[in-house]
Amino acid sequence: SLTAGIVGLPNVGKSTLFNAITQAGAEAANYPFATIDPNVGIVEVPDHRLQKLTDMVNPKKTIPTAFEFTDIAGIVKGASKGEGLGNQFLSHIRQVDAICHVVRCFSDDNITHVSGQVNSVDDIETINLELILADLETVTKRLTRVEKMARQKDKQALAEYDVLTKLKEALEADKPARAIDFSEEEMKTVQQYHLLTIKPVLYVANVGEDEIQNPDANENLKAVKEYAEKEGSNVITVCAKVEAEIAELDGEEKEMFLEELGIEESGLDQLIKASYDMLGLATFFTAGEQEVRAWTFKKGMKAPQAAGVIHSDFERGFIRAETVSYDDLMEAGSMAAAKERGKVRSEGKEYVVQDGDVILFRFNV
Ligand code: GDP
Repeated sequence: SLTAGIVGLPNVGKSTLFNAITQAGAEAANYPFATIDPNVGIVEVPDHRLQKLTDMVNPKKTIPTAFEFTDIAGIVKGASKGEGLGNQFLSHIRQVDAICHVVRCFSDDNITHVSGQVNSVDDIETINLELILADLETVTKRLTRVEKMARQKDKQALAEYDVLTKLKEALEADKPARAIDFSEEEMKTVQQYHLLTIKPVLYVANVGEDEIQNPDANENLKAVKEYAEKEGSNVITVCAKVEAEIAELDGEEKEMFLEELGIEESGLDQLIKASYDMLGLATFFTAGEQEVRAWTFKKGMKAPQAAGVIHSDFERGFIRAETVSYDDLMEAGSMAAAKERGKVRSEGKEYVVQDGDVILFRFNV
């Protein structure tokens, strides 16, 4: 399954945030296949539609879908030169599918900042530069080989040479690979290099507890937003310290606390949703009398593959997917009414599953 790795300089609030993640934790019994690793935090994906479906169907059980964050140990300067922790850090980043980059935007004189004072964009660049240097090494090595083949007028090598040159120029100008516009064809080549800076990034701005209601007054946050926009990345704002408190509450208590704070959605819930989205994940539902359940699939998946998320037998023996969109189902008021209105489609194996589809799979055993 896909995972987002949490990175950031020391003392920016990573552990505090990761603790909030594990504290809020998913009910492990529901996810028997999930990794048991202290560095992996499993969270339930918040989705208001699940409650609405539960109210409609009245099942015995309701199970949200879950998703994993990986806590990557703090970076040390000089990582690309392979000093101690550095190499390990890079190899961990290589293994995750997306990056949640925690940036300190709060000021607190009691908490030392690694470089003396808080300058969030400098902090971001410190880490990004390490990743850029590592990628530059990868690209340069490959370029040396491809150059030789390109000289022989090998067509494929010439095309690859162009892609590599584009990458090299950008990386040398301190730009991450994700900021470059590649054609679909070029992208296929780029993907073979497993670059670190091609992975999508979400910047998680950690602001002070007194700033949650009006984070935009924070100058560091403003600068982070401008920086992120340039490379086409998103930013969310959290206060890790408060998130750790929220994570200990549930249901009504949580609602009340959020209301007190004057915010609609916890930072953690925003983080989960934004990460899910960044990974290209979406949700479909199954809704029977026994169980109403949300399932995660990768956008673009066809019906049999999505069935395989539930069980490999469902994929192997796939026949049809009786499908209704969440909106159509809600508008109809019940599954029977949706059928009467002709809103329940019988989809075949070429059907591309959509976020919010409520599906009953028909399969051979
Ligand atoms: P890490 O090194 O990035 O894992 O950082 P930690 O999570 O250990 O946090 C470093 C220090 O900053 C701890 O003393 C935290 O309590 C504190 N801290 C984290 N988030 C916040 C915050 O939002 N506000 C304030 N004031 N302190 C925070």
